[in-house]
Amino acid sequence: MSDSATVSQRGAQRWERGHPWIFKSDVKKRPTVPAGAVRVRDDRGRWLGVALWSPSSEISLRLLDQEPDAVVDGRWWMDRLSRAVERRTGAGLDAVTNAYRVVHAEGDGLPAMICDRYDRWLVVQLLSAGVESFRDVIVESLVKLTGAEGVLARHDVPVRSRESLPRETVLLHGDVPREVVVNEHGVRYAAAPWSGQKTGAFLDQRENRVLLGNLARGRALDCFSYHGSFALHLALRADQVIAVDSSAEAIERAKANFTLNGFTNGEFVEANAFDYLRDRDRAGDRFDTIALDPPAFAKTRDSLEAALRGYHEINLRAMRLLAAGGVLYTASCSYHLTRSLFLEMIERAAEDSGRRLVLRQVLGQPVDHPEILAIPETGYLKGAILQAD
Ligand code: SAH
Repeated sequence: MSDSATVSQRGAQRWERGHPWIFKSDVKKRPTVPAGAVRVRDDRGRWLGVALWSPSSEISLRLLDQEPDAVVDGRWWMDRLSRAVERRTGAGLDAVTNAYRVVHAEGDGLPAMICDRYDRWLVVQLLSAGVESFRDVIVESLVKLTGAEGVLARHDVPVRSRESLPRETVLLHGDVPREVVVNEHGVRYAAAPWSGQKTGAFLDQRENRVLLGNLARGRALDCFSYHGSFALHLALRADQVIAVDSSAEAIERAKANFTLNGFTNGEFVEANAFDYLRDRDRAGDRFDTIALDPPAFAKTRDSLEAALRGYHEINLRAMRLLAAGGVLYTASCSYHLTRSLFLEMIERAAEDSGRRLVLRQVLGQPVDHPEILAIPETGYLKGAILQAD
């Protein structure tokens, strides 16, 4: 059995340029061991490092350590994971919230692995066969580092199939409640680790919600509100907030989250946001503050064109709905819609809206979702704050 891999020059160059993936087509000699950590050399015999090996994936090797003699044992994981934990504590996140991303995969040098903290509990996603083979030591290290009372695996995601891994939601340590109350810069909402979207909430928009909340006033609208996370921040300063989502369950939870905070200025609408925005626009309605945070319309590169039409449509409508001086926060979490395409889309929508709009701020991911420039896949969230003249 061989526990080493040989890769092409093209594969080796990817690593040299800071990208941790080597694709199947660049593996010249495959390891014969099962999924795990393997040593990697190029076809001239030069040792390159140690990688996670996924036998059935298109992404065969994910670089873990550039030191070819690195031993990937309990100490190694403790060291790498503690650096991720320290990045968050060092940034002062604990002072403003009890929910944040502890591990952002390749963004933290921990390929194919997500870990989100919800108060005293962790939700993890191990998304490659290589990283799954280290499951027990990873969970043990995370518990040691964070003191978590429970660790839940949200392994019910499609990418696991590409790695020939089972799709399931399973408890890996202790116990994890159905609902955890998140405190986000003073606003509270109930996250649902077992059943909610992603790992239970959209933690990546935390700082953008605070930013828009600080600008909110008058009549506010939160489109694609999910459990009302933008709406809650808007409710702090706006007179009235309308939360719109097509999911009845999300709307029910948004209502409950308003009650949890003692807010009485919310209105909740179960509707298709496309229809809602069109109808409000045709009625000549106006809002002082709008949040537009749709789901990823471009799930694949092929769907980008159709997605762009969707983004253009909702942005155009939202712009037209702004009162004079009104503020719009618009976002996209489609990886395939790059930052420049996103900004171009906003420009086209502004031109077509007949409104004069000021670009106040271009926004991205918070400190707990590090976007590495050499690894485009670590970045997906773009946002912008616009103001109507
Ligand atoms: N803004 C939220 C996250 C939104 S996720 C937050 O910060 O937490 C996207 C939401 O859009 C989901 O709740 C989903 O139910 C909703 N959704 C998807 N398609 C929709 C549509 N056509 N109209 C309205 N809501 C939609």
